[in-house]
Amino acid sequence: MDQSRENAGAPRRLVILGSTGSIGRQALEVLAAVPGCELVGLAAGSSAELLLEQAALHGVKDVCLRDAKAAAAAAARAPELKVYAGEAGVQELISRAAADAAAAGLPLTVLNGIVGAAGLRATMAALDAGATLALANKESMVAGGPFVLDAARRSGSLILPVDSEHSALFQCIAAGGGGAALEELLLTGSGGPFRGLSAAELAAVTPEQALRHPNWSMGAKITIDSATLMNKGLEVIEAHYLFGVPYERITVVISPQSTVHSMARFADGAILAHLGVPDMRTPIGYALAYPKRPPLPMVKRLDLFATQLTFHKPDAETFRCLALAEEAGRRAAIVACDAEAAGCAPRTVAAPIVLNAANEIAVQAFLDGRIAFLAIPEIVEKCLTWLGDEPVESLEDVYACDEEARRFAREAAGRPA
Ligand code: NAD
Ligand code: MG
Repeated sequence: MDQSRENAGAPRRLVILGSTGSIGRQALEVLAAVPGCELVGLAAGSSAELLLEQAALHGVKDVCLRDAKAAAAAAARAPELKVYAGEAGVQELISRAAADAAAAGLPLTVLNGIVGAAGLRATMAALDAGATLALANKESMVAGGPFVLDAARRSGSLILPVDSEHSALFQCIAAGGGGAALEELLLTGSGGPFRGLSAAELAAVTPEQALRHPNWSMGAKITIDSATLMNKGLEVIEAHYLFGVPYERITVVISPQSTVHSMARFADGAILAHLGVPDMRTPIGYALAYPKRPPLPMVKRLDLFATQLTFHKPDAETFRCLALAEEAGRRAAIVACDAEAAGCAPRTVAAPIVLNAANEIAVQAFLDGRIAFLAIPEIVEKCLTWLGDEPVESLEDVYACDEEARRFAREAAGRPA
């Protein structure tokens, strides 16, 4: 086969949401390695200046800022651009890109690198528009799981995980021949900057210490989630929905080097693992170039002769967020699976929505210096007790539970125990 054509990559269009963040900026770095991928839209929260710079550099004409003032400022500074504003603006940007791509006969990929459950409407808009969803925004899967899957089923959209563990699992499952012989997902995590500390030692840790992750450089929210192990808990729920694997067959394995990005165990006893240096550009590049692998010379090669691998059980008693998340996932899974067996629309309970929303509020309060590190699981637990069993039968219920949990969590954060 003609090598240059083989490497050219199928033409497609791309929208990057959260382009000014850690995932978004790294996606822009790998874009040059994914030929055929035409960037047509960018969205961010409030960083108008960086967004405009990115748009100019990549020749993008459609942009969106969630913050209305920032959007107005951007529109005034760059009248040649179409500037969308607000939550609705992200959805308009996606619909517009999907309609244009369809008219040109090209597939569209939406990379969702927004942080928090604020990304759920964008996830739904991408799937409803029939786009391929490259999903970094794990919170939208945690909060909206059954509805996200339902939307993907209805439109036939593909969801490609960007989270490094899920990208690794996706590849290991495929390499193992698919789900039929799959026995167990082994979801790895570094254990974060406080691995090995006792609850007494955790009581006084500061946001500065929590923001110093040993292996990964990421946005502030996910870095705190990595320190509490809530990130691993959210990832267990994300894996449950993405791969349809029951919670009792998802095992968290602490591997401090972050070299094994996750593993899958199969019916013949074989374990397939995905290894490399911890660098998000690899899973981002995989999702953007799928089903090809893009050449990424800027990613450091793992030196196996300088590599040691160790595996431990997580300390879920000290890092209570992991157990809270697993429990919340299980509470919702029972109802969701029953509903699926009966062939009706998704029905679930609010536990994962509440877990995620309360955590977002508590993490922000910790970053602002208003609560202690150990108040994060306390607030999440309180909110789960109050609201976790609320029935959820529609996407509107998801948004309502999310808002209510935020209200409760704000109240709890105002009066930490
Ligand atoms: P970040 O804080 O660095 O960036 C977030 C981006 O989202 C910014 O561009 C911000 O402007 C934008 N944003 C926030 N709210 C928005 C809204 N309502 N509408 C549009 N844009 C909005 O966060 P990050 O570290 O890049 O993480 C993004 C997502 O990817 C999170 O869900 C995180 O869990 C996941 N993730 C990140 C990493 C990583 O290495 N950073 C790894 C795995 C998964
Ligand atoms: Mg991850």
